[in-house]
Amino acid sequence: MDSLISNLRGLWIPNSALADRYRLIICQLDGSRRLLFSFASASDLHWVVTRAPWSYEKALFAVAVTDGTVDPLRVSLQKQFFWIRIRGIPPLYIDEETGLGIGEAVGDYIKTGKDRNGSFLGRLLWVRVGVDVEKPLRKGISIPGASWSGNKLFKLEYERLPQICLYCGVVSHTGFSCPRRLSGEIPEPTYDVLLNAERKEAWLAKREMEEAERETVSGGGSTRVGMHPVKHSGWAMAYGSAGFSYYQDDQIETRMG
Ligand SMILES: [Zn+2]
Repeated sequence: MDSLISNLRGLWIPNSALADRYRLIICQLDGSRRLLFSFASASDLHWVVTRAPWSYEKALFAVAVTDGTVDPLRVSLQKQFFWIRIRGIPPLYIDEETGLGIGEAVGDYIKTGKDRNGSFLGRLLWVRVGVDVEKPLRKGISIPGASWSGNKLFKLEYERLPQICLYCGVVSHTGFSCPRRLSGEIPEPTYDVLLNAERKEAWLAKREMEEAERETVSGGGSTRVGMHPVKHSGWAMAYGSAGFSYYQDDQIETRMG
């Protein structure tokens, strides 16, 4: 736990000097795997909260903000906040309304992401959502016809996604210890590692590069080869369900950011 605490301090208060030692007070709660954090400044807390989810050794750190009036051991860590990307929506529909619809279907909608110019125009729809991490993560969303007919399924990509169980899709364990795999209920992985937004991006970039190379070699001829992401199973996880709570003296809105 000590290395975890010093890692967190380094991440959350980077380049801190001796004078910064009271900016973040960390205490381990007796008899639990929870930590209580007290931030001296609201901006430090805001910085940490808006960059959630956090993970350590690839496992999720569940975090929650509390006003300090309740027992920190009873603070719920069930809702965790993610930026979710949805690819393939026509630019005309990349807006707050679509973001709200998707966000509410997936969990607690917070906001729709805009680019630096405050515009929604782009190739992706970004939605900040509070997700129930005690349930299997949602893989996709079906959107009724806008410029297409019927319902169309769009895959969800989670930014900064920690390791999940690729068999049942929860974040609290990995495939290695999945009870539903061990009981034979789910014999094969049903989740794809490309649920992870950064992996998806790398995979798409690689595919684009390979396609460009292929076109160069074959002079534009079409020799397309089906590509599939490599599926992994049997993750090891050190801090499976470590839970963390934030505490700070002033009342802070939990839906900030
Ligand atoms: Zn599982």
